[in-house]
Amino acid sequence: MEHERGHRGTPDAVVIGAGHNGLVAANLLVDAGWDVVLCEATPYLGGAVRTGEVTAPGYRSDLFSAFYPLAVASPVLRSLGLADFGLRWTHAPQVLAHVFPDDRCAVLSRDVEETAASVAAFAPGDARAWRELAQEWAGIEHDLLQTLFSPLPALRPARRLLSALGAGGALRMARRAVLPVRRFGDELFDGEGARILLAGNALHADLPPDGAGSALYGWLLAMLGQSFGFPVPVGGAGELSESLARRFLAHGGEIRTESPVEGIEVSAGEAVGVRLAGGERVRVRRAVLADVTAPKLYGDLVGSAHLPARFRRDLEAFKWDTPTLKIDWALRAPVSWTALAARGAGTILL
Ligand SMILES: Cc1cc2nc3c(=O)[nH]c(=O)nc-3n(C[C@H](O)[C@H](O)[C@H](O)COP(=O)(O)OP(=O)(O)OC[C@H]3O[C@@H](n4cnc5c(N)ncnc54)[C@H](O)[C@@H]3O)c2cc1C
Repeated sequence: MEHERGHRGTPDAVVIGAGHNGLVAANLLVDAGWDVVLCEATPYLGGAVRTGEVTAPGYRSDLFSAFYPLAVASPVLRSLGLADFGLRWTHAPQVLAHVFPDDRCAVLSRDVEETAASVAAFAPGDARAWRELAQEWAGIEHDLLQTLFSPLPALRPARRLLSALGAGGALRMARRAVLPVRRFGDELFDGEGARILLAGNALHADLPPDGAGSALYGWLLAMLGQSFGFPVPVGGAGELSESLARRFLAHGGEIRTESPVEGIEVSAGEAVGVRLAGGERVRVRRAVLADVTAPKLYGDLVGSAHLPARFRRDLEAFKWDTPTLKIDWALRAPVSWTALAARGAGTILL
């Protein structure tokens, strides 16, 4: 697609980085009537939401991320109406399956009763416990998602969430936020099936089963999968980014690829523009938004001279999470899992 579009005058804002977060921000700003230029360092849009031919001719692989429950759950993304710009979601018959070495299989389905039946095969009482977990989620889903997706501090939705949880529920949720998922699963369930659905999802969020906070992420991803599935865009992950770009361009935004920002210009404590590789300066009337990592934003683009000493010390404590290794295969046919229940799942955990 054509990514460039002529631009007149000083823009209201420059967005640095065309990852999906930068693309969403750029869309919200043009909706608010702002004149926006989006600068992307690479020739590609989407950052880690991108699809390409890397294995065999004609075979398209998602190069990084692949499924997006939070995207379909997000009131912000829904409000953009991306279907009008070509985005279509699709689902595997089952959300995910965790296969044990003896071919037993725990299956997460968008149908609570199907998930309950799967975990009951490991321990009959776990069907009831899973239903209760899903019921608890249904009672707070709306307020929790509003809290997650509202600008910080999300005081109003957080207050509604607390009142939906009640005093006891809020304390239990606070405890869940710091609990390792192994302990959480052991407390709730008797069988390995339900426990592994929670733990596998925590691992998927790059958190180890004994790590503090892994219970919250395992629970959140499992409940998102239960409620929304793990949807994928038809045509690959890149379609999510491309539909955001199409919408942004249709609303008058300008995208400049192969335009790495080398610095953010600061005057009297405010961002007033950006400096591109090659020396071009783009001034802004209102704001610079950055969809890049915190060390890159503050360390490289803003520069420590503009930061308070305490903030610089906080930044020194920044730690990357564990790296991810990804292997792409081009297969002639779907994998013939010997665990039959795994065959309909879009995500397999082993
Ligand atoms: C292997 C892998 C698998 C994943 N799987 C999933 C998954 O299945 N589901 C899910 O929800 N999440 C998944 N994630 C996480 C998810 O992809 C990321 O959290 C998300 O893509 C981050 O988006 P972003 O817009 O914040 O940043 P990014 O996608 O990192 O985009 C940042 C953009 O900014 C550009 N940029 C950087 N510096 C500059 C500069 N100086 N000037 C101009 N441009 C610049 C970059 O080139 C890039 O295009 C996965 C991540 C990885 C790596």
